[in-house]
Amino acid sequence: MTRPVCLITGASAGIGAACAILAAQRGYDVAINYNSDRAGAENVAQAAIAAGARALIVQADVSDPDAIAAMYREVDAFGPLDALINNAGIVGQTARVTDLTFARLRQLFDVNTIGAILVAKEAVLRMEPRGKGVIINVTSAAARLGSANTYVDYAATKAAMDIFTKGLSDEVAASGLRVMGVAPGIIETAIHAKGGDPDRAARNAPNVPMQRTGSAEEVAKAILWLMSDEASYVTGSTLNVTGGR
Ligand code: NAP
Repeated sequence: MTRPVCLITGASAGIGAACAILAAQRGYDVAINYNSDRAGAENVAQAAIAAGARALIVQADVSDPDAIAAMYREVDAFGPLDALINNAGIVGQTARVTDLTFARLRQLFDVNTIGAILVAKEAVLRMEPRGKGVIINVTSAAARLGSANTYVDYAATKAAMDIFTKGLSDEVAASGLRVMGVAPGIIETAIHAKGGDPDRAARNAPNVPMQRTGSAEEVAKAILWLMSDEASYVTGSTLNVTGGR
């Protein structure tokens, strides 16, 4: 029996890696997208194969439309797309709005918003003719909270994805597609160090009602639930996975 195919962008590390491994364990064949961390993607592919899945590793910078097109050509050869976890994302260095530059804003919106919308568009083009498919946009609690004095620009890129999730879901619901957002809170991944603040997660744990950070695996479980038939009447909404934050 053929297994459904799931594309996960930004699957070489963190939440995307956890999603790819859990999707493989739950019966998907996985297309593992990465940008720069080939070794990370290979580790994830090994874990997916060990779980019984086929695994495709596909390099693409999602801020580059030509790279997105090339990525989908490889995915199409791998198998018909059933699910997209639209996860690749970046933060800038911790800064106030008065320190933001055009180049930084351009890069953040190109990856987190424009790239993510184009990746979703290509998924819809493949799913609508088949009358089925699930898209999960990984947004952020920052879209609600604003991330003052840290990365307001990042929060804005993710708020755009929350409303994109609602609009796209309305557009494709009658075609049999479901589109949801998952908004993680403070999750233990390398993204905080990449933003120049490696202690951010631990420092913010006391501000979380549950008094702790979350793990990438906990976010992946919420995403895989939304993708499953258990969530068959859910679309258009964004689920907070934030420990109550
Ligand atoms: P992470 O550990 O830094 O992983 C980010 C992943 O995105 C990596 O696989 C990276 O690939 C990939 N990526 C970055 N830029 C890319 C590009 N231009 N094209 C393709 N892939 C790219 O981060 P994470 O914490 O798992 O974050 C995953 C998602 O969750 C992001 O959208 C993030 O905004 C969101 N999120 C995270 C948190 C948190 O606290 N961790 C909270 C809320 C939302 P390479 O390393 O190969 O370049």
